[in-house]
Amino acid sequence: MVEYENLGKLNKSFFSDYESAFKATLESGWYILGNQVNEFEKNFAKYCGTAHCAGLASGLDALIIALKAFEFKKGSQVILPSNTYIATILAAIQAGLEPVLVEPDINTYNIDPEKIRAAITDKTVAIVVVHLYGKSCEMDKITQICKEHRLKLVEDVAQAHGAEFKGKRTGSFGEFGAFSFYPTKNLGALGDGGSLNTNDKDLDEKVRMLRNYGSKVKYVNEVIGYNSRLDEVQAAFLSVKLKKLDQINDHKRKLARVYLDNIKEDFIKPVEHEDYFDVYHIFNVRHPKRDQLREYLLNKEIKAEIHYPIPPHEQLAMKGILDKGHYPISDEIHKTTLSLPISYFHTVDDIYQVTEALNKF
Ligand SMILES: *Cc1c(COP(=O)(O)O)cnc(C)c1O
Repeated sequence: MVEYENLGKLNKSFFSDYESAFKATLESGWYILGNQVNEFEKNFAKYCGTAHCAGLASGLDALIIALKAFEFKKGSQVILPSNTYIATILAAIQAGLEPVLVEPDINTYNIDPEKIRAAITDKTVAIVVVHLYGKSCEMDKITQICKEHRLKLVEDVAQAHGAEFKGKRTGSFGEFGAFSFYPTKNLGALGDGGSLNTNDKDLDEKVRMLRNYGSKVKYVNEVIGYNSRLDEVQAAFLSVKLKKLDQINDHKRKLARVYLDNIKEDFIKPVEHEDYFDVYHIFNVRHPKRDQLREYLLNKEIKAEIHYPIPPHEQLAMKGILDKGHYPISDEIHKTTLSLPISYFHTVDDIYQVTEALNKF
């Protein structure tokens, strides 16, 4: 059986380092906002090429707190991709903003800069881009649009830790890079976690207040805050894994290479371009008979997943919010996309097994 994902196997090589990290945290007697979080924040900011990083409780919280930090007028519009994971859209709604969906480029699956321009109104205050599947968006064009229209830029980097555009790491282009450390992500914890990275000292301070009951000094509350802190123990685990993040990404890129070189042209494969350093959180192919293909692979003991089966505008939760729009490109991607195994524990031989089966479909 070639599994799609197995978190035990993914983490196996880190077990003894995790045990030491856990023991050190346990014995320190300090479990919330201490040295482990400080140390991870310092190193992850450096890794991303940002001046600051604040550890948070999840990726969704990172997106909500980023949008809250700007203190936009209620009902302002925020532009988001129509084919993202639901969390990006939930964040806009939870922050009291109106989500405006923009279709992706069918080749990159990332938000189409030309279509962003068409969606800007006098109520638009921000753009949240999502570097989907581990590929950066076209950040030169997008930062230019933000400059021209004085819009804030938030990057949803939940799927793209370490990805680059023209040699610059994702999460360092916008006012905020919002990360998730959910266990399956390229930099995954052993539970929930997230962060907001920024080059703006004031925004960083704001986030640190918001994550901790709106308080800078204990029992002094300046703003309406949350409880959204990264745990010490998760930060300790993340510090172990951060040291191996490049190794994890290189391994995924090596597996992707096998797919890209061996899957025949009947399948639509991810595009490659010299401006992009892709980290393949997900390796997808598209095929008109996607559901049959998935079934066929399962019969050959290969598990594949769909990211995502239902587009956000078709979700019951979005009734009355997003269901008036038409998003044919998003619909097409959701109907035809299939994610193939590409975890850190998979071997090159596992991937050859998948390509062989695929090519016989
Ligand atoms: C995983 C993910 C999130 C949410 O992260 P959590 O840590 O699970 O809250 C947000 N956006 C995208 C694109 C994701 O893949």
